[in-house]
Amino acid sequence: MSDHNDLVSYELKGPSDSNVVSFPTPEVTTSTPIKEKKKSKELVPTPTYDKISINAKKLDKLSKYPCDFDYTIYKQLEERYAHKNIRGGIVKNNAMKLVNSHSSCQQCFYALEIDTYGRGCSHNCLYCYAKAQLTVYGYWNNPIPVPIDINEIRTMFYTVFETDKKSKWRKLLEQRIPLRVGCMSDSFMWMDHKYKVSQEFLKILNYYDYPYTILTRSDLIARDDYVALLRKDLCSVQFSVASTNDKLNKLIEPGTPSAKRRLKAVGKLAKEGLWTTVRINPIFPIHPDGYFTDPDFKWDGDVPKFNYTTFDMVDEIAATGTPSIITGFGRFSGYALNNIEKATGIDLKPYFDREKVCKSSRDWHFSEKEIRYYYEEFKRRCDKAGVEKTVCYIGNGESQFWDHQDLWSNKKDCCNIKDRVSSFKADTRQVLFEDRLKFASQKCSTPIDVKNLHTPVGEVSESEKFLKSIKRPKSKELDNSTEVYI
Ligand code: SF4
Repeated sequence: MSDHNDLVSYELKGPSDSNVVSFPTPEVTTSTPIKEKKKSKELVPTPTYDKISINAKKLDKLSKYPCDFDYTIYKQLEERYAHKNIRGGIVKNNAMKLVNSHSSCQQCFYALEIDTYGRGCSHNCLYCYAKAQLTVYGYWNNPIPVPIDINEIRTMFYTVFETDKKSKWRKLLEQRIPLRVGCMSDSFMWMDHKYKVSQEFLKILNYYDYPYTILTRSDLIARDDYVALLRKDLCSVQFSVASTNDKLNKLIEPGTPSAKRRLKAVGKLAKEGLWTTVRINPIFPIHPDGYFTDPDFKWDGDVPKFNYTTFDMVDEIAATGTPSIITGFGRFSGYALNNIEKATGIDLKPYFDREKVCKSSRDWHFSEKEIRYYYEEFKRRCDKAGVEKTVCYIGNGESQFWDHQDLWSNKKDCCNIKDRVSSFKADTRQVLFEDRLKFASQKCSTPIDVKNLHTPVGEVSESEKFLKSIKRPKSKELDNSTEVYI
């Protein structure tokens, strides 16, 4: 079991570093004067909890799922935050999404996403796109990330697997398309140790034999009570680690457990025989764009070096015993780069060639040539260390999904889960476009070539044949909005 003493206060720093708020933790709760606590409990009405509680009782009668979840967490939350009148309420609705319905992550294998918390994330990574977007609307950690109503999940699974009633999710769930857990927020933040919503969610997935992949920057998932719920035939766990430089991690990902702890956690799960992966994501520039690949690269004075993402990380990850690495180069919002500069004193903007790489109005990208260099070097290091390697294209445009397939150790799956976890058979690339449209919440700014959606990936020779035959959109032509942040 991991030591998490350094996280007990769950301090959050807001965008300006001035807005510090704390999560309710056992430690914080006990510091509240007992008299005052009792008084407020008597006075505060809890309509949300009351409704959730009634629905839970109804579900208990209808469903065979043996639920022992402690629903009073909603009551505690409602009582505690009643005076704050949380925008959107104390639970997050609409936990599940199919995100490749109408956007640039249409080729993703695991685009059926679920978040068990929303409107914030205690990890508070400065590069986080969810943070950038939700801060604009005043939703980010205001004042804390809120859990989903677990009844929503129970109802969904009960309806699909225990009845023949109508459900918009029936077609997808019956195909057992794996869920990706953790997108706009980390479902395994340490606050789940108190609320246990994600823990209950794992129990539901186990009961209905439903496959899932967890994306996390936390080591909570390696705590014994969580490990006991992870089934080798159903789950894959992906730990994201942008750097093993924990001094900078503290500044750039202020709420995450250290990389050291995450690597210890991945090692523990790998030893348990679970399918584990480390995502080196987002890859940060090491030197300015063009340093490795442009023969005309010039710089006045010493070429700057950012000591964050390194190629040597591969050896540290390999030493944990995890069999698989996924790399994904970062694309950064101006908001993220400004916040990183405020926190670290390092301005990364000069690392980017403004003319060449500001390909969309919002994001800062590296050139495709330079990105390819990083991926090839990581592949070389992985081969040497005996670790499998794939590439995640999300955020960098669809062309990179096709362009880097030769670097995938598993030619069937860029997440490298198929043929590794027995229940991973289906994926979201097989969902028909007309079905995807039913889930679309926004229009894509560029037309989708529907034919590309179902074109098989495969051996390099087949891919190459295919690559020559299609018109591939370049990153700059794509709508780069995605909903993948972990
Ligand atoms: S990047 Fe992921 S872990 Fe970090 S704040 Fe955003 S959602 Fe949380």
